[in-house]
Amino acid sequence: MCKKQNDNKSWKINKFISECHRIARKKGWWDRERNEGELIALMHSELSEALEAMRNHGTKDSIAEELADCCIRIFDYCGARGIDLEKTLLKKIEYNKARPYRHGKKF
Ligand SMILES: [Mg+2]
Repeated sequence: MCKKQNDNKSWKINKFISECHRIARKKGWWDRERNEGELIALMHSELSEALEAMRNHGTKDSIAEELADCCIRIFDYCGARGIDLEKTLLKKIEYNKARPYRHGKKF
């Protein structure tokens, strides 16, 4: 059902992953091996920048830029590690649809 339901949609996450990782390699970010902690911290730093933009009354565009930076770092990571994020996103979205209201949690 998941596959049939999504066949008509244009999912392009893996194209973003390929492009973000290609650019990062070209810019020298992968000339040496990078550690997992550094990469996760840099993803998180972009979310902190989004929070700061919100705190500073940033525009939707400025907040979107930081969220995009976070996506780019995640996509680059997936490209470097061979992670099929698109497949996993589709799987998780279907899983979440089947979960109870608020996933059965208090908050
Ligand atoms: Mg940023």
